[in-house]
Amino acid sequence: MTAAVLRPGGPYGWAMLVERMRPFTSTIFAEMSALAMRTGAINLGQGFPDTDGPPSLLADAAANITGGLNQYPPGPGVPALRAAVAEHQHRFHGLDVDPDDVLVTTGATEAIAAAVLALCDPGDEVITFQPYYDSYAATVALAGAVLKAVPLRPPTFAFDPDELRAAFSSRTRIVLVNTPHNPTGAVFTAEQLTFIGELATEFGAVLVSDEVYEHMVFDGAAHMPMASLPGMAARTLTISSAGKTFSVTGWKVGWVHGPAELVAAVRAAKQYLTYVSGAPFQPAIAAALALPDSFYADLAAGLQRKRDLLTAGLRAAGFIVYPCAGTYFVVTDVAALGFVDGADFCWRLPELAGVAAVPVSVFCTDPALGRTLVRFAFCKRDEVLSEAVERLSGLGRAMAS
Ligand SMILES: *Cc1c(COP(=O)(O)O)cnc(C)c1O
Repeated sequence: MTAAVLRPGGPYGWAMLVERMRPFTSTIFAEMSALAMRTGAINLGQGFPDTDGPPSLLADAAANITGGLNQYPPGPGVPALRAAVAEHQHRFHGLDVDPDDVLVTTGATEAIAAAVLALCDPGDEVITFQPYYDSYAATVALAGAVLKAVPLRPPTFAFDPDELRAAFSSRTRIVLVNTPHNPTGAVFTAEQLTFIGELATEFGAVLVSDEVYEHMVFDGAAHMPMASLPGMAARTLTISSAGKTFSVTGWKVGWVHGPAELVAAVRAAKQYLTYVSGAPFQPAIAAALALPDSFYADLAAGLQRKRDLLTAGLRAAGFIVYPCAGTYFVVTDVAALGFVDGADFCWRLPELAGVAAVPVSVFCTDPALGRTLVRFAFCKRDEVLSEAVERLSGLGRAMAS
């Protein structure tokens, strides 16, 4: 399929995919998930949970569908959900958000895309950190903007302040921050966020803060929203989603809030991308956002235990495992196992050990950065993780034979 799309002057006499999208014709998740399926491997590649979210959420959504909430909801989102997002931001992060400044989107993905499309003219620049969530680069390309990706290097995945400063220019429109960070599992410190905010202020850039893992921060730490730092709410679009928090990644209901004029710009782009989404899901998610603290505490505690289970197993199997402070991913270095290329490792892992993972190099503009790094997801049932660990323990033997 890829070959046909890319054939110059293909069946219509012209190349069928615009040049700026040609680097994005396939996603590693589809390839690795297909490989896992073919080989019967345990799929720790793609980050989706293998259990359902809160029963009350599922029941509410089902009742909304049978109860007739099936037509276009209001453009900015169902009022109950916009109010619940504002309430949630106050309850967990101490942020004062006006429900009128909340826009419901088709997942965090659309919120990010609409922000980039609304704020960037062709040639404008978006700064982010690499490795990055894979939609960032494709979205920036769709907008005809230019991605400047500042490296996050192991073991801490902290950025180099000089490299970050050097990435700014008079054309910088957006700094796209993701904390807790996928794929590295890093959580940006107050000092790092402050430094990013100061540069954004100096260069007149908007901060777009992807916080979909806000409730997955471990070891007693708390999530720190970009907008909670002094002065930053005035230039920050904060984005999150129900997908990760409530284990409903297939629902694609997210939101963005920020200063009224920025949200209005995002809404202008959003309304012609999808117009609206998820009418029956929105009120159900509104109710779920008000679940008691115990739900959120159990979510983080359960994932922390899974992180520890998988980390211990990977270390026992010979991997270098970097610290994970948040999200549901750990990054490993497979150089210790004698591999020089993480992608090559991932193509062979299902056959060697019956487990699938994804190479970090695919999340990088500069593939050399993540050459020997491999990401594993731990948002799976304990018995699945235990079985994966058991299989991985045979990796050394499989490689020797
Ligand atoms: C999963 C994920 C998203 C996408 O969220 P949706 O609500 O499914 O669109 C965005 N950013 C990061 C970092 C993610 O891991």
